[in-house]
Amino acid sequence: MTDLVNKLIRTELKDLVPYESARRLFSMANAAEVETTWLNANENPYVPTVSINPEMYNRYPDFQPEPLIKGYANYAGVLPEQVLATRGADEGIELLIRTFCSSNDNIIICPPTYGMYAISAKTHGCGVITVPLLEIHGLEKAASNTSSLQLDVETILANKQKANLIFICCPNNPTGDLVNTADIINIIESTADDCIVVLDEAYIEFCAEATSVSLINKYDNVVVLRTLSKAFGLAGLRCGFTLTNNNIMDALKKVIAPYPISAPVAQIAAQTLSPDGINWMKSKVAELNALRDSFITNAKTWSFVEKVYPSQTNFVLLKLNSKLTAATAMQTFQQQNVLLRDQSKQLMLENTIRVSIGNQQQMELVNSIFSKVEQSL
Ligand SMILES: *Cc1c(COP(=O)(O)O)cnc(C)c1O
Repeated sequence: MTDLVNKLIRTELKDLVPYESARRLFSMANAAEVETTWLNANENPYVPTVSINPEMYNRYPDFQPEPLIKGYANYAGVLPEQVLATRGADEGIELLIRTFCSSNDNIIICPPTYGMYAISAKTHGCGVITVPLLEIHGLEKAASNTSSLQLDVETILANKQKANLIFICCPNNPTGDLVNTADIINIIESTADDCIVVLDEAYIEFCAEATSVSLINKYDNVVVLRTLSKAFGLAGLRCGFTLTNNNIMDALKKVIAPYPISAPVAQIAAQTLSPDGINWMKSKVAELNALRDSFITNAKTWSFVEKVYPSQTNFVLLKLNSKLTAATAMQTFQQQNVLLRDQSKQLMLENTIRVSIGNQQQMELVNSIFSKVEQSL
C-alpha cells in the first residue's frame, strides 16, 4: 500500500482479505491453453441458447425491465412488484446490508456457509455475529428429514436484538443440504420485531419443492434471494433476484443503482425465463441431479472418504480421512486440469473438498481420477 492509500483507506478495510472466488483462484485466462474441467464454482456445464439485439443500446435501460421482471415473477410464483433484479444475487446481499445496516449494526451468519455475507458486511463496516450450524447426531438426526447440520435456533434468537439481518442459505453452500423449514419459520416468527430473515435460494432449482418463497406473502420480515448463475447456466451474465414485500422493496430501491441491469443482460435473462428456457433448465437439472446421485454412490465406496455430505444441489462436499489430504487431492486433480474447491478453511470443514457436478463425460473423468487414487493407497 502507498502511504496515501494507507492514510486514506477505511481502517476496517486495512486487514480485510478479499473473497477468494473460484475465478480469482484460477482465472479463465490461465486455463486458456489447456482444456480445463471447471468443477470449482458450482456452475452449470451447459449454456442456454440466447441472442441479443443491439437496436436500443444507445438508450438507458429501464430501471427494472418489465419483460425480465414479469418473466421471473411468473416463474417464481410471486407478483412482479415483489421482484427486484440485481447484478447477481451477490448484489442483493450487498444491497440488503447497505440498506439495513449501519456501522454499529450486525448481521448473523451460520457457518460453514457462503462467504459473501461476511465479506459484504465487513466492506460496509458492519459487524458479523457467527452462530455455527449444529451437528445433529444419532436419534435426533433420524427424526429430522434433512441434514445432520442444522440451525442453532436458540443462539440465533439469543442474538436477535443485536442483529438487523439473519442470513440463512438453503440449500446451504458448501455443505449442500437443506435446513429444517420448521426452524426457519420459528426464527422468522420469533424475530418479527427485530430482524429481516434473508433466505438464500441460489440452488433451489435442484430441489424446487423445498422453496420458502411463499413466506414472503405470509411474513413482513422475509427476503428470498435467487440467481440465474447456477441451474439456469448464466453465471457470466450476472443476474439475480431479490424477492420480498413492498415495504422492504421500497427501502432497497432507495439504495440500488439507477440502471442496475444492462440492456443485453435484461434481453438474455428474459429469454431464459420463457417457457422453452425454463424447460431447458429443468431438463439440465434432472440430468445433473442424476449424475450427482451416482457420484455420491461411488464416493461412499472410496476408503479415503470419511463422509459424503448429503446434497440437494449441483455439488457434493467430501470429508477426507487421514489417508488423503484435501491439498493432495486438489493437486492430483489439478495435474489433470480438473479444478475442484478446497473448503478446508471453513469452520468444521477440515480436510474437505467440494466437487461441482459437471456433464457425464466430466464426471467419468472425476470418477476415474478418484478410482486411481483409491488403487494407489
Ligand atoms: C453462487 C452463489 C451466490 C451468488 O450468485 P450470483 O447471482 O452469481 O451473484 C449467492 N449465494 C450462494 C449461496 C451462492 O452459492
